[in-house]
Amino acid sequence: MQGKHSDRIIVAIDGHSSSGKSTLAKQLAKHLGYIFVDTGAMYRAVTLYFIENRVDLTDQEDIQNALDKIKIDFKNENGRNLCYLNGQLVEDRIRSIEVSSLVSEVSAISAVRKFLVAQQRLMGKNKGLVMDGRDIGTVVFPDAEVKFFVTADRNIRAQRRYLEFKNKLRNVSYEEIFKNIIERDLTDTQRSDSPLKKAEDAILIDNSQLNQDEQFDLALSYVKKALEQSSK
Ligand code: C5P
Repeated sequence: MQGKHSDRIIVAIDGHSSSGKSTLAKQLAKHLGYIFVDTGAMYRAVTLYFIENRVDLTDQEDIQNALDKIKIDFKNENGRNLCYLNGQLVEDRIRSIEVSSLVSEVSAISAVRKFLVAQQRLMGKNKGLVMDGRDIGTVVFPDAEVKFFVTADRNIRAQRRYLEFKNKLRNVSYEEIFKNIIERDLTDTQRSDSPLKKAEDAILIDNSQLNQDEQFDLALSYVKKALEQSSK
């Protein structure tokens, strides 16, 4: 595999909730002509299915039976990468505060991680991929050619997410969003299976003081270096 796809690499982006990982991943994928995969959407889709089908999170058999019935796809429509759960468009529903409140608990379940990580690895088998999540550089693709760990001050992250919700006319308070971000940071970093942490070889980007274009230019400079290295 190595060498065969030397002009196509894997870019792994991990980081804290609402740190702008997906925005950066989308920008890079578009620029490079690569596939973009938002793995958070996959955990959110599983969570939505669990909520709607009242899956008992303490019952391993119930969880496995539910996973066997779940199919997640992404379709690119008008430049947007939309998430489908069992053939139904769920892009908006997976972003609700109800799903956000349960997703970290669901993501801590090993059977759920095993189910999704296998699919994520398949998506990267031909490289040419930008994937964002919490364990991409540490677990899913530990050999990724470029790894970023994105973060920002938590008040700034909450403020950005609040504005996003407000623009979509969603009725959620700043306090609710701030609380959700703090709780997810805590659950994601403290779980025993694949906790959120910076891979040793990941490049840290703190975008508290960067706008989207500045962050993109910075990240792209590292990607270009990695592409030069891999085509040698
Ligand atoms: O990226 P996003 O905030 O949409 O992710 C939602 C949740 O999914 C995270 O808070 C985390 O609990 C879980 N997640 C994960 N591993 C990933 C991606 C997301 O555990 N690779």
